Amino acid sequence: MATPKRVKPKKAAKIRTLTSGNGKARLLVTAPSASVWEYAPAPEGHDYLKLRDRYELFIGGKFVVPKERRYFPTINPANERTLAHVAHAGKADVAAAVNAARAAYDRYWRRCTPASRAKYLYRIARAITERSRELAVLESMDGGKPIRESRDVDIPLAAAHFFYYAGWADKLEWAFPNTQPQPLGVAGQIIPWNFPLLMAAWKIAPALACGNTVVLKPAETTPLTALWLAEIIQEADLPPGVVNIITGGGETGAQLVVQPGVDKIAFTGSTDVGKQIARECARLQRHLTLELGGKAANIIFDDAALDQAVEGIINGIFFNQGHVCCAGSRLLVQESVHDLVIEKLYRRMQTLRVGEPLDKNTDVGAINSKAQLQKIESLAASGEEAGCTRYETQCALPQRGFWFRPTFFTGVALSHRIAREEIFGPVLSVMTFRTPDEAVEKANNTPYGLSAGVWTDKGSKNFKIASQLRAGVVWGNTFNKFDPSSPFGGYKESGFGREGGLHGLRPYLAAH
Ligand code: NDP
Repeated sequence: MATPKRVKPKKAAKIRTLTSGNGKARLLVTAPSASVWEYAPAPEGHDYLKLRDRYELFIGGKFVVPKERRYFPTINPANERTLAHVAHAGKADVAAAVNAARAAYDRYWRRCTPASRAKYLYRIARAITERSRELAVLESMDGGKPIRESRDVDIPLAAAHFFYYAGWADKLEWAFPNTQPQPLGVAGQIIPWNFPLLMAAWKIAPALACGNTVVLKPAETTPLTALWLAEIIQEADLPPGVVNIITGGGETGAQLVVQPGVDKIAFTGSTDVGKQIARECARLQRHLTLELGGKAANIIFDDAALDQAVEGIINGIFFNQGHVCCAGSRLLVQESVHDLVIEKLYRRMQTLRVGEPLDKNTDVGAINSKAQLQKIESLAASGEEAGCTRYETQCALPQRGFWFRPTFFTGVALSHRIAREEIFGPVLSVMTFRTPDEAVEKANNTPYGLSAGVWTDKGSKNFKIASQLRAGVVWGNTFNKFDPSSPFGGYKESGFGREGGLHGLRPYLAAH
């Protein structure tokens, strides 16, 4: 391994206080120690990854050319290079996929013994584990996330979901005693671009374990790992049509929602699209689960272990470039420790390494798409216009690709757009509180209710506050921790229904 170089600190590494508008915010952040260490590049190899020029639709166990022969490019957001062209599923393709899923449901899957279903799920889980390195590289190239995260979080968790639900497949009667659990039929599943393979696993594994067949639509900007999953499914010898994967844009997803023959829709994505889907499913009387946006409060009490809390704040907002529905995007700090927390946060933020997603030293990768970058820029600009004080990292950004510096704003009011709207990027809004009641009041003052974090040295206080928060998941003295056995989902505009755990089986079973 190359020896790290010692370099002089950059001048700008002191502190940056930008456009405060009212000029109020002043922070004393001292310069870092006399020198900083520069990391040698540590790129993850990707030459072995043989991408095809074109990827087709996976319908009825085969890769098929789309009927209208339309394809769209999928690019690497870190350098804007095209990785491959991917089939666009039109109306006829959506119908073919749903028909294939229906036929597979009637012919094999509903008749298959639960133990056999488990066998297939275990096979898929093992194949994901075996191919985890290439899947991680592909995920980082197609989506922009750091290889450290795709390697250590996304892919292992995706495999873990298949392992976990394989375990439930033949125990449904124990999971729901005194019932005879029955599948719903064909599930249409629409997933976003922030955790592509992991979201596919969250959707497919419980559906199959319960005896449903599926048609999955990945997001337009990140279709590749789902298509590799299709190959894995083919190799696992899953009966044809049990899983169908159709790529395309929003209109493909919209068509899937209304396609005759679909019994249930599971959607993860924006609240706006979720509302449209809810209207259609109400009209068509389809089962529905929605996992939508969030604007989580991360609450720091003055008795918390502040250094650990700062790590939690960093992980809460900068993990996956902040493209996380449960990101801790609103920081609520007790007033007495505000300045200290901000000082520590600012220093820690400067150590984040932003850049090439395939470099193993990278902490923050590329923004997923140009459209998302523009959305983040516009919301950050609204924070400045509102008079909030902006702090950001000083590091150099690559010339090409979509990048945004890790950023936080102080002096934020609950009414500001950056406190209310989901930015879905590496931007944190900092607010203060004086009493526990005020913290709870502010944390719950949001249209969303997906997640929250509480940091305090007192266990009883942690439980008391957590019980008052209207959020599906509340982390205590940690943040952004996931496990297949733990249910995940929201309240209010964050959606309804749970994924993960025993709870994640229920939306795929008929009620008794
Ligand atoms: P969308 O909600 O538009 O996309 C999520 C998925 O739904 C994608 O597969 C998308 O396809 C598909 N889709 C889009 N329109 C429809 C429709 N009318 N009917 C059915 N499916 C549809 O999110 P965006 O990608 O546009 O992101 C916008 C914002 O949404 C983000 O800035 C963020 O705030 C939020 N978001 C929240 C997520 C979460 O996990 N809660 C995840 C992603 C985004 P396609 O990608 O091909 O357009």
